Amino acid sequence: MDSFDPRLIAVRSAHFIGGLYRDAQPGMEVCRPSDGQVYAPLPLADAARVDEAVSNAWQAFKTSDWASRPPRERARAMRRWADLVEADGAVLGPLEAVGSTRPHKDVLAWDIPYVAEGIRFFAELADKHGGEVAATQTDRLGMQIAEPYGVVAAVAPWNFPLSMASWKVAPALAAGNAVVLKPSELTPFSSLRFAELAVQAGIPAGIFNVVQGDGRVTGDALCRHPLVAKVTFTGSTATGASIMSTCALVGPKPVTLELGGKSPQLVFADVPDLAKTAHTVALAITGNAGQVCVSGSRLIIQRSIMAPFIEYLQGYFNALQPGPTWSSHATLAPIISQQQARRIDGIVRRACDAGAEVLAGGGLFEGMGGAYYQPTILAGVNSQSPAVCEEIFGPVLTVQAFDDEAQALELARHDTYGLAAGVHTADLNRALRLVRNLEAGTVWVNRYGRSNDYILPTGGYKRSGIGKDLGREAFEANLRFKSVLIDIQP
Ligand code: NAD
Repeated sequence: MDSFDPRLIAVRSAHFIGGLYRDAQPGMEVCRPSDGQVYAPLPLADAARVDEAVSNAWQAFKTSDWASRPPRERARAMRRWADLVEADGAVLGPLEAVGSTRPHKDVLAWDIPYVAEGIRFFAELADKHGGEVAATQTDRLGMQIAEPYGVVAAVAPWNFPLSMASWKVAPALAAGNAVVLKPSELTPFSSLRFAELAVQAGIPAGIFNVVQGDGRVTGDALCRHPLVAKVTFTGSTATGASIMSTCALVGPKPVTLELGGKSPQLVFADVPDLAKTAHTVALAITGNAGQVCVSGSRLIIQRSIMAPFIEYLQGYFNALQPGPTWSSHATLAPIISQQQARRIDGIVRRACDAGAEVLAGGGLFEGMGGAYYQPTILAGVNSQSPAVCEEIFGPVLTVQAFDDEAQALELARHDTYGLAAGVHTADLNRALRLVRNLEAGTVWVNRYGRSNDYILPTGGYKRSGIGKDLGREAFEANLRFKSVLIDIQP
């Protein structure tokens, strides 16, 4: 059964600037990943359009009271926004699901409430920072004043369009900035509704703008703009590096980078319930069809339990039913594009040429309209295998066996990435040793994946990122600090 008819979902092909939809000439076509059909044109903002959006944001920052209003009032407007987002499932739900890989039922049950509560989390921080008097000499008073940057540029990926946008936009707004968001050109439309609801909530027009376009022209113009004081980016490591060098050349200006990953899941023979752990491991690589930055894509497992564990995994993998995001029965999401599906398959083929053995899946589902990739298990790989080295961003799990903890740790190490890791063991001391030794920005023990504990920051070690999203850290990264020293007359 379908939860909506994709042909009936109307999208507005526009930018959102100064609190208004700005229609523009279409520059490219956007496809539904679920069935591969073109469903809307997308305008591409050139440098002039980007300048219009940034200038609007700058004017709103200067002339509205967003930065100067009492922080609790700013927080109140953001809480109203969160309420509107949460109540907007009927519009936002299909809009998010139709053009992305996010199943409609998950968007309603998880993404929208998660985004709304995240906005509230950052709203609550608006008046809960500062408060230090510096240890200066006693004939003067020293302190730091936290101030917003002005205009923050946010560049977002396609894999969780609303959630990823909210990670960028909510802390920047709570800190008093204006924002220009560029969503991914593959999933551009739900952000417009997100911004419209912000204005409805009383966030001044121009404080949250959306420009549409690709990375090469629109994203680049946005990062380069002289009135953009800070850039916050989520996406691939290669793009992050390119944005960082742009920001260095035209600034330098600060950047927060949330980048790619190739995260290991370490499973020890002492786990009390093999089937349950296998289910956790399977979900961690098949959720959103593996198109999650923290996907647990490398299983590192104690040799003695490898055979039964893989049997459980095969059971879970083979039971997944591909289908469009609007299907109530589908349990495996589509791949974002045919091009990305071919890339996934290319890495699997190269891994097989290098000796990998396919234990499940290993190819595309045929005749589905959209691109769907079979949940795949690859054994017989080593650290040089393309499937182990490269971020695949699909439902492909590699398996490597270890005999002791030291070997497990060595296999878990990755030359490039350090985004997340999972440890499954009944031995708390072992878990704590590994927590200390794993090079990853997040380590999960006897679970895998994020919760709605927004207080825990997320970010990568190594080339998985610089800076943090979520937590107090994300809020503070949207502030700059001015030192003030006042002489006290005798
Ligand atoms: P991508 O790097 O291709 O694109 C991300 C965004 O950057 C898009 O909006 C794109 O248009 C824009 N862009 C591309 N080139 C640009 C340029 N030169 N200047 C400015 N903007 C530019 O990434 P993607 O394919 O959309 O997303 C998948 C990647 O994102 C994966 O590597 C995944 O691991 C990563 N990701 C990381 C996190 C995290 O929290 N670390 C979260 C989600 C996704």
